[in-house]
Amino acid sequence: MSLAEERALLTAKRRRGGGVVIAAAAAVFAALALAGVLPSAYALGGFAIVAAAAGLALRSAKDEDRLAQPVVMAERSDGFLRAVVAGLPDPVVALDRDGRVLALNDRARALAPALRQGEPVAFALRMPELIEAIGRAAAEGEEQRVVYSERVPIDRWFETIVMPVKREPNAAHPDFVLVTFHDLTPLRRVEEMRADFVANASHELRTPLAALLGFIETLQGSARDDAKARTRFLAIMQEQARRMARLIDDLLSLSRIELNAHRRPDTPVDLVPIVRQVVDGLQTLARDRGVTVTVDAVNAVPVLADRDELVRIFENLVENALKYGAAGRRVDIKIGPGASADGEPEAQVSVRDYGPGIAPEHLPRLTERFYRVDVTESRAQGGTGLGLALVKHILNRHRGRLTIDSAPGAGATFTVHLPATAAAPIR
Ligand code: ADP
Repeated sequence: MSLAEERALLTAKRRRGGGVVIAAAAAVFAALALAGVLPSAYALGGFAIVAAAAGLALRSAKDEDRLAQPVVMAERSDGFLRAVVAGLPDPVVALDRDGRVLALNDRARALAPALRQGEPVAFALRMPELIEAIGRAAAEGEEQRVVYSERVPIDRWFETIVMPVKREPNAAHPDFVLVTFHDLTPLRRVEEMRADFVANASHELRTPLAALLGFIETLQGSARDDAKARTRFLAIMQEQARRMARLIDDLLSLSRIELNAHRRPDTPVDLVPIVRQVVDGLQTLARDRGVTVTVDAVNAVPVLADRDELVRIFENLVENALKYGAAGRRVDIKIGPGASADGEPEAQVSVRDYGPGIAPEHLPRLTERFYRVDVTESRAQGGTGLGLALVKHILNRHRGRLTIDSAPGAGATFTVHLPATAAAPIR
């Protein structure tokens, strides 16, 4: 039985009790008067006193009941408040004017496990700025915002909105205060990444640009009439200018792929001729590096893809194997059907080299933009540090993924996994 129902029952009982007392008193005094024990005037007076007392008791019970009404209302609205708070998508805590927790949802509980209904919020949240803001919101009835960060266990940023709420619009004070937490961490991370990216891209462009400017000055000055130096410098300048062009090309490709990230390619294509075409295109580089490339493939491996983007993936992987794994003198490529860890059919292309391999601490970061194991070597090889980032982005768009197996001294295997498609006409 709810508290309100219990109270109603009690009032009804009291009323019934009052009526019984008056009726009993009337009967007793009438009997006494009839029996001649009490003169009728005294009997009437006695009855009047008892009836008045019973009536008073009844009235005070009614008053109590009337006074109890707001409590019942408050309970009803607290239940409503709890239901509303539970249904909100952000972590939310509702507090009374004294800062005691009236309601909180599961997300708020996950954020601050020490929060307890009925206890002061200050017991659980040790953020003086926030506690002060809650006090101000309750006293002044004005919305407050507090941004704070946590360092432990990981860096997180929050914006907290403290909103005083009145049940009646014209009430002098808020009835409760709603505290909503907005997790700003993903936004901050994106901001940091963007800032890092711009800084890295500018740095990568500034280095060849500085070299170009330096050589131009030398050619205009001390080397003006030195034909041999001019030939040498122009060759270096050409290489630096090409590096800038490659970088800009990669940056543009990255942003174009990101723009289309949500659109999954839907053209059925066969992986086998694409990989063979890439290998043919890199034969000169392979010969220069003294590397033999083998391709082991079944008849056809159809996938839904953007052909040009697939070419880009395999160019990057085979080129990396030829550049960084040249010491192994062999690169083996395998194309075929396979299955993902959870048994889904996949198309897989693995590019294996027998070079120096990669230490395990680098593996998780290789697909980050501008991440290189050895910056000098990457630059010497004409790398931009964006190749594997491009591969990862293209694969994301295709709902595929890249896995890397490597150990120092044991070469490296980069495997492309793409969702298999039912054999469809290959365009
Ligand atoms: P880069 O333009 O520097 O080649 P990538 O994103 O393609 O950029 O590769 C990132 C880094 O990963 C390279 O700088 C290199 O250190 C490492 N790497 C890539 N492929 C191989 C490989 N087959 N063997 C060893 N290291 C590799």
